[in-house]
Amino acid sequence: MSRIITTAVYHLGTVMHRHRTVIQTIQWCVVAIYLFLLIVPSFLPLPPRQEHILGNLVLFAQFVFWGIWWPFVILSMLFIGRIWCGVFCPEGALAEFTSRTVGRNKSIPRWLKWRGWPTVAFILTTLYGQLISVYDYAEAALLILGGSTLAAMAIGFFFGKGTRVWCRYLCPVNGVFNLLSRLAPISFKTDQEKWAHYCGGRQENPNCPPMINIHQLHGVNACHMCARCAGFRDAVALKPRSVMEEVVVYGEDKNASPWETRLLLFGMIGVAIGAFTWTVSPWFVTFKQAIAEWLVDHNIFWPLDPTAPWWVLTNHPANNDSFNWVDGFCVASYILGSGLLFGTFLTLMLWAIASLMRSQTLFHHLAQAFLPLAAAGLFLGLTATTVKLLMYDGITFWWLPYARAFILALTALWSLYLAARILQRTPASLIRKYLGFFLFAVSCVPIVYAWWLMFWGW
Ligand code: SF4
Repeated sequence: MSRIITTAVYHLGTVMHRHRTVIQTIQWCVVAIYLFLLIVPSFLPLPPRQEHILGNLVLFAQFVFWGIWWPFVILSMLFIGRIWCGVFCPEGALAEFTSRTVGRNKSIPRWLKWRGWPTVAFILTTLYGQLISVYDYAEAALLILGGSTLAAMAIGFFFGKGTRVWCRYLCPVNGVFNLLSRLAPISFKTDQEKWAHYCGGRQENPNCPPMINIHQLHGVNACHMCARCAGFRDAVALKPRSVMEEVVVYGEDKNASPWETRLLLFGMIGVAIGAFTWTVSPWFVTFKQAIAEWLVDHNIFWPLDPTAPWWVLTNHPANNDSFNWVDGFCVASYILGSGLLFGTFLTLMLWAIASLMRSQTLFHHLAQAFLPLAAAGLFLGLTATTVKLLMYDGITFWWLPYARAFILALTALWSLYLAARILQRTPASLIRKYLGFFLFAVSCVPIVYAWWLMFWGW
């Protein structure tokens, strides 16, 4: 059985390599659909309340972008790695096309390679998206997604020759995809033996879009799985692997960037919880009321008027949906506060475990054990929009609470199992390992509790 899977996965890699034209055709089809659904709805009127997804282009585009695209791209990272980036992503295709055809091929400046960009970009984009209600309005989607696409093309125009500099260093979801794809059961790998003993003559280096050192390839985290290097020197191939391998075996990187851990703890867990829960949180309402009452008591009324334009704060009076300055302040404080609270708590817990185990590398290594729980949060949070839109269309999901509980329980167990495997590899005594595991399990509780509050508690 395992040989059949290995062969099938290997052939998938070589088929993708041989059929570049098909992949390019798919990419341009996705680009056309993406641009159509992004641009056209933003010039159409708001849909009437009784409209259905299939009967109104604005609702249809909203459903495609936020109900299908984002949640299932997140999910695809866990099953097929970053094939989305290498085969389907319209932004990457446009950035690479711009770079290859009209690019100035300037060398990449140091500031652009700063490892903190994916974290900062993810947090700011998530926050801005909530402030202008990106899930609900086509203009907001055009501003955020279209702006990102234009920026990707501009970076492609200046830097790199036929590569994807934007995707590698600046894309707001690059860091998220990079982390999530570590759990994928397939990856391109280079066989070092075959590479060293290759005697098939000189081969031109494949043009790797994210500029990876193919010689050292052992995982999918930065690899876009475009398959251009499949079969190179008879050493590179798509291979199946354990979903634990990259985190447990390769996760102990002494040169790991602290930014990846910050993105995971503060962004993908903390900020994501804040961004998905503020609309249902009674704490948010209490916070907002307290500020509003204080302002009224002090005769300060201007922050209570929705005077900001829609591209600063949601402002759609026709839909009876406008944020005043207090709303904007509370949304930003809640989301960033949640990021800070969860991030700090998890950082302290990991730091305590690493100190207990007397290991300097354990902090970043063990942090990756939170990946399944972080993935579940992103998927469940994003599919809340999918469910909301389908419910407006009259579709009901009696099984939804069970499915959500199952996903949360499964990923919590997966996280615990990863933590156990990582702790097992440390040279610490058994007692310390058990204590470390206990502390890790305690760290998972607030994350699960936050999602429980969102879906059941509130
Ligand atoms: S290493 Fe580069 S060329 Fe090879 S599959 Fe990954 S992204 Fe494509």
